[in-house]
Amino acid sequence: MLAISPTDRLFVLTGAGVSAESGIPTFRGVNGLWRNYRIEEVASPHAWRRDPRLVWEFYSMRRRVASSAKPNPAHIALTKLEQRLGDRLFLCTQNVDDLHEQAGSVRVVHMHGELFKSRCDSCNRPPFGDTALYDPPADLPRCKCGGGIRPHICWFGEVPFELERIFRSLDECSIFMAVGTSGVVEPAASFVAHVGGRVRTIYVGAEEPANATAFTECLIGKAGEILPALLPT
Ligand code: NAD
Repeated sequence: MLAISPTDRLFVLTGAGVSAESGIPTFRGVNGLWRNYRIEEVASPHAWRRDPRLVWEFYSMRRRVASSAKPNPAHIALTKLEQRLGDRLFLCTQNVDDLHEQAGSVRVVHMHGELFKSRCDSCNRPPFGDTALYDPPADLPRCKCGGGIRPHICWFGEVPFELERIFRSLDECSIFMAVGTSGVVEPAASFVAHVGGRVRTIYVGAEEPANATAFTECLIGKAGEILPALLPT
């Protein structure tokens, strides 16, 4: 069990591995989402300009998969931790699914965006909730301003959301934990190096991440088994 004192502040970074036991494929695993699509053809501003239909086909597929997924014990353990720590827990996810929220977490920061939101690619209308599937041959959604409606996702080559808040919380934390993330996608992969040396750093995941040497401890196994035993409720 992780000892957390009344003055500790915890920063938890989650990745695709935390949703794997809910049936959402990770990006690089055997059933990885990228196996049927080439990253640059579906998840970049260039892809959006070149073939928005293919981009929406990919994100409609992801919406379909995520809409039937349910939170697993790892999400639930993190929700219970938030209920205990309140704003002393900063939960930052690279996941675009809503399983942390479905489990009951209320302060989730989605640094790579949210699958069930869309926004205009031209005007500054705020992102809005959107569960629709825009599979071809459906018409592509358009904004009143004439712009295209795109997924509210941080694509390769774009700047992740809320970085200022994230780095402030990294500077304030006394324990850093990463769960189910392969440690290759920047800037999240460097969060541990940013806090390292100053705070305790723990990795929980199915295998050693690429940045394993930056952690003080690596706990290898399924998030849904390790987190309920590790985190106080
Ligand atoms: P990744 O696919 O690169 O790595 C997933 C990691 O999870 C691997 O290291 C793997 O060993 C581990 N893992 C697999 N099953 C696990 C389990 N049951 N318990 C614990 N760990 C497990 O994922 P990443 O590092 O998050 O990749 C970054 C990008 O992938 C992000 O941009 C993210 O937005 C995106 N992504 C999101 C989702 C989602 O929203 N659910 C799904 C796939 C990818």
